[in-house]
Amino acid sequence: MPNPTATTARPQTCPHCTAPLDPDPRFTVWCPGCEWNLVPEQEAAEEAAKDAKAAARERAAAERTERLFQEVAAGRADTTRQDWLAASAVATAVHLSTAALAGWGIWLLVTGNTPLRCLGAAVLAVVFLLRPRLGRAPRGTGVLTRTEAPALYGLTDRLAEQLGAPKVDVIRVDGEFNASMGVVGLRRTSVLTIGLPLWEAMDDQQRIAMLGHELAHRINGDHRSGLWLGSAIRTLAHWYDLATPRRRAGGGGVGAMNLLFIFADYISNAVLHVVTWLLLRVLLLLHRLTARAGQQAEYRADELAARAASSEAASGMLTALLFDEAVGTAVLRVRARIHSRPRSTRREPASAPDTDLLWQELRDHLAGLPALERDRLVRRSRAGGHCVNATHPPTHLRLALLAGRPPVPAAVTAAPAESAAIDAELAPHRARTAHTFLAG
Ligand SMILES: [Zn+2]
Ligand SMILES: [Zn+2]
Repeated sequence: MPNPTATTARPQTCPHCTAPLDPDPRFTVWCPGCEWNLVPEQEAAEEAAKDAKAAARERAAAERTERLFQEVAAGRADTTRQDWLAASAVATAVHLSTAALAGWGIWLLVTGNTPLRCLGAAVLAVVFLLRPRLGRAPRGTGVLTRTEAPALYGLTDRLAEQLGAPKVDVIRVDGEFNASMGVVGLRRTSVLTIGLPLWEAMDDQQRIAMLGHELAHRINGDHRSGLWLGSAIRTLAHWYDLATPRRRAGGGGVGAMNLLFIFADYISNAVLHVVTWLLLRVLLLLHRLTARAGQQAEYRADELAARAASSEAASGMLTALLFDEAVGTAVLRVRARIHSRPRSTRREPASAPDTDLLWQELRDHLAGLPALERDRLVRRSRAGGHCVNATHPPTHLRLALLAGRPPVPAAVTAAPAESAAIDAELAPHRARTAHTFLAG
């Protein structure tokens, strides 16, 4: 981790193998020979504090991930269809349960006497709570329309055509060091979210690779955000939440009525415990089924990204993902610079020129990263299993997969004028995001 404020004594030689160490005080000291301090002590202590069960679960998951990587790399991971089919069957059972409950509620309402009709209404109210959630198209800050950003939409459309993917409906930007593709609503509106810090950390061709990866999510056979499966997962999570027993505040007295309530509470809690246990099993089963197929889909999206933007750019894009801490460093440095100005010349924090300064600082910081620090970040990702999030394979395995394939040239590039036009379209969002970072 870059550490501009470190003042403690720095070892000159490795305490493990006595090799001479890098004297650059801006970065974490570590030994490339024996990997001493590759994961700084605090992180290592947190790792060690995990209980044995959690550690064993993580190890098993890491082994499965590694095995899948070997299969994908060798081109013999062919179980995707079976996994998706099994997951869809579970999803169907979930939707059928909701439908059956709705049918029962309506039947009670139509055929029952007054108490049964009340029960029917209650059942339908629960069905309403559990209805499949489809998500909504984003509106407001960060959303770019086609008239506001013709160059960005133009490039994305060209990429989609090259990949054979559907065009994206809505592009929005946010302040995350990430990018994502989602499909929302009954009309299945596709929403591409671009994290501006990640965008600013990459060069033009790497940005095309990133857009390519996200567009590829529509054609890589990933059904996790699909209508059937995605809504089933969300419905199950709702059920789980609703069924989790809550402690009721105890009333005073020991009357017969009170004892009856305590007994009823005890029984209902016992039932709910069984229900939540079952729901958790189903959720974990769905996770197991989709994790493997989902990771295969991610590797496929990386390969499609390489085909669109070149292998080199796709690897560069994946490497950029490892530098998520660079944003924090750039923010600290720009803040420090603003505060070191003489009071008379100090502008309001984060005025317009300062917001430009942040992105320039981020690019300068990344461009100036010494090879040793880059090496440390890549190796640490291997040791710590750096993932974009739980849905993606570890970044170092994604890099290894591309490295193992024959390199491919770029099929889509952006002319300098096109890149400049996209920059101009994003300028107000860049300033707004930087302002938020510097003020925060
Ligand atoms: Zn060493
Ligand atoms: Zn992805």
